[in-house]
Amino acid sequence: MIKAIIFDLDNCLSAADDPGAELLEPVFDAIRQANQGTLPDDVLGAALGDCWYHALDFVAKKHDFSDEMLAAGQAVISQTRVSTPMRGYGDLHVLAELRGDPLPMLFLVTSGFRQLQDSKIKALSMEQPFEQWFTGIYIDAVDDPNRTSKQDIFQAILNAHQFCPAEALVVGDNPDSELAAGDRLGIPTVQILRPGVAPPILRLITSAPCTNSKHSLQPRPRKPALEKRYPQPRHRQPWHSRQRQPRIDPLKRTLNCSVPRQRLQIAVEQAARQNGVNFF
Ligand SMILES: [Mg+2]
Repeated sequence: MIKAIIFDLDNCLSAADDPGAELLEPVFDAIRQANQGTLPDDVLGAALGDCWYHALDFVAKKHDFSDEMLAAGQAVISQTRVSTPMRGYGDLHVLAELRGDPLPMLFLVTSGFRQLQDSKIKALSMEQPFEQWFTGIYIDAVDDPNRTSKQDIFQAILNAHQFCPAEALVVGDNPDSELAAGDRLGIPTVQILRPGVAPPILRLITSAPCTNSKHSLQPRPRKPALEKRYPQPRHRQPWHSRQRQPRIDPLKRTLNCSVPRQRLQIAVEQAARQNGVNFF
C-alpha cells in the first residue's frame, strides 16, 4: 500500500511560468547585463529558456555562465516573489481526491530560493485549499546556508512516519532532481511529462536491464500473428462493443519505455486502486 506520495512543484503541479513570463524577466535582464560577451546571444537565449525547467546554478554550470552572470541572476531571483494568484495545472483537483484519511499522505518538496518558492505556494493557495492537501510542505532552499537536499528531506519524511521506501511514491518532472533522489532511496518514482518537459532519453540507455522479459528492452522472439496461429474472423465483435482505450490523465503521463518506470506506473495504479482512486 502506498502511504505517502511526494510531489515536486515546478512543472509538476504548476508551470514554472504560471505567474507569467515576466516573473523572471528582471533575472534575465541582470544576467544579460553581466554577460559582457561571455556567451553569444543564441546560447544565452537558450540558457535563459532553460531557467524555466532547471535551477539557476544548474543552468549556469551547463551553459558556462561567468561567476558574475550567476551572481547577478542569483541576486535578483533571491528577491523575486509571486504576488498574484496561481492556479496550477488543470488537474490539480486530483490531489484532493488522492489524499486519504489517514493514508496516503501527500507531501510537497520543492527546490529553489526560499521566498520565491514560498510565495508560489501562497499564490496557489489563494483560490483553492492548496496547502491543506499536504501533510507536509518542505522547501529545499538553495539560499539556506544549512541546506540539505531533496534526498535528505525524502528520507526525513520516511523516518518521521516510519514508512519504508516501497510505501512511498515520488512524482515529479526532473530526472536530475527529485526522480534521481527517489531512485537513490529506492522510492518508486513517476515522471510527469508536462508541456515542455522532455523524457530523459539517456536514462533508457543507462537503465539497468530488467529480468522480467515482459518489460525487457531486449528484442522479443517473433511469434506468428494471432490470426495465423488461431484463424478466426477478423472482426468478431462489432466496433462499438470493443473495449475503449482509457482516457489519459495528465498525471498518468509517465514514461512508458524505461524499465524502472514501467514498474512504477504499475505501482501508481495499484496505489490508486488500493485507495479507491481511479484517476490513474
Ligand atoms: Mg520540477
